[in-house]
Amino acid sequence: MKQNSSLFLDDGSRVAVIGGGPAGSFFSYFLLHMTQRVGISPSVDIYERREFSKLGPVGCNMCAGVISESLVQSLSIEGIKLPENVVQRGINSFQLHTDKESVTMYAPFNEMRIATVYRGGGPRGATELKWESFDEYLLQLAGAEGANIIRDRVINLSWDGQKPQVHIKDKEPQTYDLIVGAFGVNSPSGELFENLSFGYRKPGARKTSNMEFAFGSEYVTNTLGNSMHAFLMNLPGLHFAALVPKGNHVTMCLIGDDINNKFVDNFMQRPPVQKYLAGNDSHTAGACSCSPYASLGDATQPFGDRVVLIGDSGMSRLNKDGIGSAYRTAKVAAVTALFRGISQKDFQDGYLPICNAIKLDNRFGRVIYTIVEVIKKSRWLTRGVVRMINSEQRKSGKQRRMSMVLWDMFTGSAPYRDVFMRCLHPGFIGGYIRHIAFGSSAPATEADRKEEVMEETALGRLYHNGEIIIQEGEPGDCMYVIQSGQAEVIITQDGKEVSLSVLSQGDVFGEMALFQQQPRSATVRAMGDTRVLTIDKRIFLRRVHEDPSFAYLILQKMSQRIRELDSEMARIKTK
Ligand SMILES: Cc1cc2nc3c(=O)[nH]c(=O)nc-3n(C[C@H](O)[C@H](O)[C@H](O)COP(=O)(O)OP(=O)(O)OC[C@H]3O[C@@H](n4cnc5c(N)ncnc54)[C@H](O)[C@@H]3O)c2cc1C
Repeated sequence: MKQNSSLFLDDGSRVAVIGGGPAGSFFSYFLLHMTQRVGISPSVDIYERREFSKLGPVGCNMCAGVISESLVQSLSIEGIKLPENVVQRGINSFQLHTDKESVTMYAPFNEMRIATVYRGGGPRGATELKWESFDEYLLQLAGAEGANIIRDRVINLSWDGQKPQVHIKDKEPQTYDLIVGAFGVNSPSGELFENLSFGYRKPGARKTSNMEFAFGSEYVTNTLGNSMHAFLMNLPGLHFAALVPKGNHVTMCLIGDDINNKFVDNFMQRPPVQKYLAGNDSHTAGACSCSPYASLGDATQPFGDRVVLIGDSGMSRLNKDGIGSAYRTAKVAAVTALFRGISQKDFQDGYLPICNAIKLDNRFGRVIYTIVEVIKKSRWLTRGVVRMINSEQRKSGKQRRMSMVLWDMFTGSAPYRDVFMRCLHPGFIGGYIRHIAFGSSAPATEADRKEEVMEETALGRLYHNGEIIIQEGEPGDCMYVIQSGQAEVIITQDGKEVSLSVLSQGDVFGEMALFQQQPRSATVRAMGDTRVLTIDKRIFLRRVHEDPSFAYLILQKMSQRIRELDSEMARIKTK
């Protein structure tokens, strides 16, 4: 039951989005995109103080710039393909370094499904500006859907009767039907929302460190390759440390309890880190550096009548996939505002469940980080981790228990709860104990690794002309989105091949396997070079559970497919 029938978005309703980072852009994009389905046209103003084309921290929302596997897949189903000039490098593996050993984990399907990007114009002093800012790309997507981008800072918020008002310097205050807080945790804007007195309290945050090194693309390719490098070292208070390869730079990212210059120097001087830093060993060495705040997870009361807070300023995942949380919260908030309403009760019914899910998951995350702290302190325990991963590299699928736990943990591909539950499995615990006691720390041989040499910035996997992507009659448990090129859909009838259709960029296939345990109903074959992104069943189903409108996208594509098949069948019959 709606509390107040006037709290709906309608033709001419005005929405203000404070912050044009990922959360603000995603919200505006999805709201405007979905209004076409409902047939109303509200207006959306995005207030953003930064120029994302500027170099250095001033044009940047300061992060490691890793777009998670689950987000790359979700966006590709949403029809958002990250352009190659936004993707700095595709990542297909993770290297884990302890104080003594290193081990490599490869992505499921051995595919480039993680992207590294620059949030702003690029590191300070960068000269080869061949790339585009990720945040600017998203902002322009929202702009293309009709959002009005106002490059200015919001300095105050107030109430105009029942409706919220936005103030910017030297302009008349503007009254809106809904305001959306998407200002992150790196500005004082949280206080503006706290002063609206609906109970909001901004999330806690802690200081972190990011540094960019201009090593040149040859060094980056030869030394770091297409791998993210994560460090499991005995450095008290360090929760996450990674080196992230980009086009011609490397980003070093440290998240922990008390990150300061001394801590950064200490980390950089550790032998496993030194191998990748070309002799640099001090916090002053980077071409560009910043110390942004990272959200500690959850705000209090992130909604009220006509107000909702999303992304870092609302709810986000602890230490991992913050941009993925921005996407998830923005989409659910937009669906709620459009299909339920914009009262506190509407957000409580439609938006609170995802906030609670993230909050609960962060509790599991905190337990996992505590366990990792213990493992880091013991040479035996870290060696057990490395040994178990090494022995698993020769196995496949569910047998790779430690590798999948760490992959999902570092990439943020699965909720902390899933990761935690898998750690309790007797097979995991037994295997770990066995590898602490016995086993080899020697890396798997090159022959055991199925690394494919791929372009630096294209995501997915490349199939060559005539190569079969899926085969009729075979079992399947994933679907695919074409990133570039074309593929032909074929069925076999009376021993002859019948071509049903030609698929191209953005088209989805293999989706029936997500709904039914049936063999593939057709063969799909590459026509020329075709790049395809694989979508995991578990990631798809998790998204549908959280945001049922996600399933609509697939239904839309399936209904289109049935229509095309009908007309193709009619054409074949007539022949
Ligand atoms: C060290 C570090 C590394 C990270 N690495 C990753 C990573 O690799 N992958 C990942 O997914 N996440 C990462 N994150 C988290 C990620 O940066 C955030 O979760 C994400 O940026 C949140 O998006 P957002 O849109 O909510 O907020 P933000 O990205 O902070 O955007 C907020 C926007 O609001 C604007 N704004 C604020 N106040 C005002 C105002 N008053 N008027 C107008 N505009 C305003 C700001 O200019 C900004 O553009 C990292 C975070 C840190 C600190």
